[in-house]
Amino acid sequence: MRYIKDIANITMDKDKCIGCKMCIKVCPHGVFSISEGKAFINYKDKCIECGACSKNCPKEAIKVSAGVG
Ligand code: SF4
Ligand code: SF4
Repeated sequence: MRYIKDIANITMDKDKCIGCKMCIKVCPHGVFSISEGKAFINYKDKCIECGACSKNCPKEAIKVSAGVG
């Protein structure tokens, strides 16, 4: 299932990412994928802004602002 398009407030800084895949493990909605050793936001529409990825990223590469929706 998907939520309203483009409403999720999630950003990721690829330069900080070390490709540990923690965000992929903790995300309950499979938002992230890995490409060339770096994570990227593949399914932004599925994000429920739970904040798990942001909390568990060792490099603080992900920012999630819960709210608006
Ligand atoms: S948890 Fe952070 S450092 Fe690890 S793959 Fe995801 S974005 Fe990259
Ligand atoms: S905030 Fe939650 S649902 Fe959204 S990408 Fe991060 S872990 Fe996945």
